Amino acid sequence: MEDTVIHRLLKSYFGYDTFRPMQEEIIRHAIDGGDALVLMPTGGGKSICYQIPALALEGTTIVVSPLISLMKDQVGALQANGIEAEALNSSNDERLNRDIIDRCLEGRLKLLYISPERLVGGTLQLLRQAKIALIAIDEAHCISNWGHDFRPEYTQLGQLREALPGVPIMALTATADKITKRDILKQLNIEDAATFVGSFDRPNLSLDVKRGYSARDKLRYIIDLIARHPGESGIIYCLARKATEQLAAKLRTAGIAAGVYHAGLPNSERDRVQNDFVADRLQVICATIAFGMGIDKSNVRFVVHYNLPKSIESFYQEIGRGGRDGLPCETVLFYNISDIITLRKFAGESGQHEINLEKLARMQEYAEAQVCRRRILLNYFGEASDKACGNCDVCHNPPRAIDGTTIVQKALSAIARAEERIGFTTAINILRGNMTPDIVAQRYYELKTFGAGHDIPQRDWRDYMLQMLQMGFIEIAYDDDRHLRITDLGREVLYGKRPAQLAVIVREECGPKARKQRPKKEAAATATTTATAGDRELFELLRATRKRIADEHRWPAYVVLSDRSLHQLAATKPTTLTAFGNCYGVGTHKRDTFGAAFIAVIKEYIARHPDPTGP
Ligand code: ADP
Ligand code: ZN
Repeated sequence: MEDTVIHRLLKSYFGYDTFRPMQEEIIRHAIDGGDALVLMPTGGGKSICYQIPALALEGTTIVVSPLISLMKDQVGALQANGIEAEALNSSNDERLNRDIIDRCLEGRLKLLYISPERLVGGTLQLLRQAKIALIAIDEAHCISNWGHDFRPEYTQLGQLREALPGVPIMALTATADKITKRDILKQLNIEDAATFVGSFDRPNLSLDVKRGYSARDKLRYIIDLIARHPGESGIIYCLARKATEQLAAKLRTAGIAAGVYHAGLPNSERDRVQNDFVADRLQVICATIAFGMGIDKSNVRFVVHYNLPKSIESFYQEIGRGGRDGLPCETVLFYNISDIITLRKFAGESGQHEINLEKLARMQEYAEAQVCRRRILLNYFGEASDKACGNCDVCHNPPRAIDGTTIVQKALSAIARAEERIGFTTAINILRGNMTPDIVAQRYYELKTFGAGHDIPQRDWRDYMLQMLQMGFIEIAYDDDRHLRITDLGREVLYGKRPAQLAVIVREECGPKARKQRPKKEAAATATTTATAGDRELFELLRATRKRIADEHRWPAYVVLSDRSLHQLAATKPTTLTAFGNCYGVGTHKRDTFGAAFIAVIKEYIARHPDPTGP
């Protein structure tokens, strides 16, 4: 390892041996006084890009951040590493806030977190007399109304350049589209800033799409998934508030500590749920997209999308909340035809409906894809990728196609005979020969195609119909009760002028995929846990110690040590402070303050379990 000042700071304060790609370049650029725009995915490691310069430079680094909860967590994490950091906010009493400003003026503060409205609304005047080393603007896309998170208070940050001339500005965001990028630079008056685009690859997130699952299938799958992750945290994103509540109730019935988070709940309740999740009192959160921005929890081990997200940006940001510590995180996306119908409706009703429909179409293509999903994501974020990743469902099970002409013809014929006045459900009921009230009322049982597809299970029909929609054989008349229409292309198939291919449906419970996938899943699950039962026991003891220390300081557990650090401790069992200090994520301050407590637990464990192969 290179032994330079910034490497020493990384090791002694954060306990890490190496920088991630781009971090070092960004840090050197900031220390040299350059403005920068930093684009990295959620969990990519943006904070260190300004925290190390803050430690290396004289004076205070100001960090503008939109959410109080986010600030508190970051400040807690910095303090746990022995770094002088504070946050100015309205939940402090004013004496504390004045004291913080004084410390800044006296040069006794390395990092000062502040909301944009507080900074421009007065504090900036006070700070002009302080030595400011750097201004970091987190979630910088909030300045742009092109972004998905516009916050008017951010637009005032344009005055920083003039108010604090000569102080370098670093804008950071996980949103990478071109317009937003340009907008950030322009509005902050840093048009000559160097732009750094970190890799958007998060190889530790597995990618998996499950198509056409019914609510019951999803629930069963989710319960199995949680069982694969005993004691580990996860997030389940749902489209609707009601769905989050229903799902959480079902999970609780199954004995899982599940909470609900959506914008319809009072603030106090949302805070409580968030805190319980961060402190591992709730294992699973069923949430709408309202959840996540303020969460800085490093050990989220699974992220489920119960419904299709509205765009690839949202999707990637949401799964990005998993596996921040670099350990494996399982992500699963459920995708249903009804999601598309609902989302298209939302998109159609929104202000920028063309853009939104376009984004939804890209998301849908992703879910439908026959090529490596990570490749698609990376290409989407402008990072050319031509390799299959080996950690997505497509890589694990390259798709096979069959001649689906007859199947497609049966479906199209049912739609045609019902005079294109039916939706998906009725079409499938006709094909399957189901005597539902609707079928009886409309006398669809008299159609020649009634029951023509009874040999194909209901859910396979759902899947095939979806494929037909994707391939343009049918379309949905949104303006006419969402009835199905046969397209020109569809008519060619119906009249035998063109063949149709369908992708073979493979589900885990049956068929070859089950055998192929199961070992991989178990491997993935155990990779996040330790190798032996003995180590597992020690891990649990260390975890309890971590919890005790965290509770004493009113910190979330991961602020004390990450899961990854605990696993390393359980595996290497250090019994000296020096050995402890060499572990991943342990800086000097953590070694000196918490080392003894963990070492005592390890020693006690070793005494109870003498190594039979040892001396
Ligand atoms: P984000 O880009 O979302 O702000 P963070 O800055 O919170 O991401 O970093 C995500 C996680 O990665 C944190 O737990 C952080 O400590 C860790 N991390 C950052 N840089 C490194 C590194 N060079 N080596 C190991 N872990 C790192
Ligand atoms: Zn892949």
